[in-house]
Amino acid sequence: MGCLLGGAIGDALGAPIEGIPIAQIREKYGPDGLTEYSAERVGIGAITDDTQMTAFTAQALIQASVRERAKGIGGAAIGMLQSAYLTWLRGQGETIPEQDEVWGHGWLAQDHVMMSRRGPGTSCLSALHAAAERQKPGWPLGTVEEPINDSKGCGGVMRTAPCGFGARTAETAFDLGCRAAALTHGHPSGYLTAGVLAATVWSLLRGAEPTPALERARAELIRWKGHEETSQALDTATALARQGSPSPEQLERLGSGWTGEEALAIAVYAVLSAQLSMVHDPPDPSSSRTGPAELGRRGLRLAVNHSGDSDSTGAICGNLLGARYGTAVFPGHWQANLEVRRTIIQLAADCSLEFGPNPPTEPDGHGTPSRQWLQRFPAT
Ligand SMILES: [Mg+2]
Repeated sequence: MGCLLGGAIGDALGAPIEGIPIAQIREKYGPDGLTEYSAERVGIGAITDDTQMTAFTAQALIQASVRERAKGIGGAAIGMLQSAYLTWLRGQGETIPEQDEVWGHGWLAQDHVMMSRRGPGTSCLSALHAAAERQKPGWPLGTVEEPINDSKGCGGVMRTAPCGFGARTAETAFDLGCRAAALTHGHPSGYLTAGVLAATVWSLLRGAEPTPALERARAELIRWKGHEETSQALDTATALARQGSPSPEQLERLGSGWTGEEALAIAVYAVLSAQLSMVHDPPDPSSSRTGPAELGRRGLRLAVNHSGDSDSTGAICGNLLGARYGTAVFPGHWQANLEVRRTIIQLAADCSLEFGPNPPTEPDGHGTPSRQWLQRFPAT
């Protein structure tokens, strides 16, 4: 719940200032930059493509897990992800050939916000159009072995946090994250960053602190070909955070977040800096801002106030903070005023059920998914 809600909150906070130079942000919102939701562009608390695609990722992974329980065979997750992204593509108003609807749409396709056009990325659009041309939605086109393009945009990493939910190990989460992103992003920095996010989320959800969670993901990362740019970006982010006194100027040494490795690095920098700042610059105990929400407030404000892809860096930072600290890390009004709050809560509850210790089964004692659950997540 924290991971999905945090991603959406960071996306919504950053969306109004995506691509706006930091000098202009300060001019408009004051010396601290943007500190609250703004109605600019889409509206107060409005989400963008990052949250939409993360939600479709989560839904497809539930479907894949249900299918595995129903049939006793896995291996369909990537095809289901591609199917789900093609459904999302239709929501962007794009015309695609009729698809063989082998796995159905799932309930997210009924949600008008999740199916509206919210600034989709060009790599996602072009790669998914290519996949749609084949009219075989369950047959993955872009893979790690056969890259679909040379894109290293952040459209892969920004949507793959749910790949850390149900995986058995951090390493399988890493692999799943990479393959989910490689559907649309063929450059190693486009998909390995998604692997890092998935593996890190996996560890955070299981109680690890951010630093060891990132170290474990990095250990897996360096076993993959083409990891250098991503591992370098992570190391620079960690070192920069340790220097303290975080600022947009310091953050922008990591880039602007349009590419996978820069977006991941900025989000990691924001998480680690906010954590450290709570120690070195603790909130005034007489103020009301002493609880865990102060950490989330600091982290997300840092993550979005820069000249680059503010909604994506905010989304990834929110995924990480929420995965470790839960919803309490985000100020209540950011949660309450989030456009898609009900949808995200519903989706998170479904994820908790399917990936938790008691997924919905028939009372036959064989672990068969219950009929109602199969209707909700059509998978066979
Ligand atoms: Mg976006």
